[in-house]
Amino acid sequence: MHPTKRLVGVASALLLAVALAGCSTTGSGALAQTVGAPATVPGGGSAGSGGSGGPGAVGLTDADGYIPDGTSLPLESDRPAVAHLDPDLLAALRHAQSAMRQEGAGSAITIADGWRSERYQEHLFAQAVKQYGSEEEAEKWVKRGSDSAHVRGEAVDIADAGAMDYLNRFGAEWGLCQVYANEAWHFELRTAPGGTCPAQSLDGRG
Ligand SMILES: [Zn+2]
Repeated sequence: MHPTKRLVGVASALLLAVALAGCSTTGSGALAQTVGAPATVPGGGSAGSGGSGGPGAVGLTDADGYIPDGTSLPLESDRPAVAHLDPDLLAALRHAQSAMRQEGAGSAITIADGWRSERYQEHLFAQAVKQYGSEEEAEKWVKRGSDSAHVRGEAVDIADAGAMDYLNRFGAEWGLCQVYANEAWHFELRTAPGGTCPAQSLDGRG
């Protein structure tokens, strides 16, 4: 009976505060919004990419390196997701892009994910916890904070399939390597220019 009393109290306090007359029910929705918890997408939910549906709703912006799904940035962009990348990584990508263009192998290398703020990475982790049911399980899929090469500015996810393919074949010429066997889009500087990329890891948690 105590919990019930408490709930009634909270509900009426909310009603008073917001001065809502007829709009009764869910105080939980209002609370979730003020706290900034990830919004639940009606009928949707995140479909595997880990980021869809949530980041914009919880106030992540361009300043966090957030790039909305379905969009990408050119290497020449001055937005934080690109501008905060490790300069050596960015330079290598630009050299690769020049070569790709000269060879007629493609027009641009664009970025679907680059530098991310720690806040953004934690959001992705929180999404994974929701998706996989526990922190322990989520840690198998998403790295936390600065454990992520993205947070350190040392990784990019390539948006365009043609550019991905080009980098997979020739990226090592500029030190660019695919790191995870199951992430054809994720590249880091992992060898000296002209060197050999290390064996790809099966642990895809970039
Ligand atoms: Zn990545």
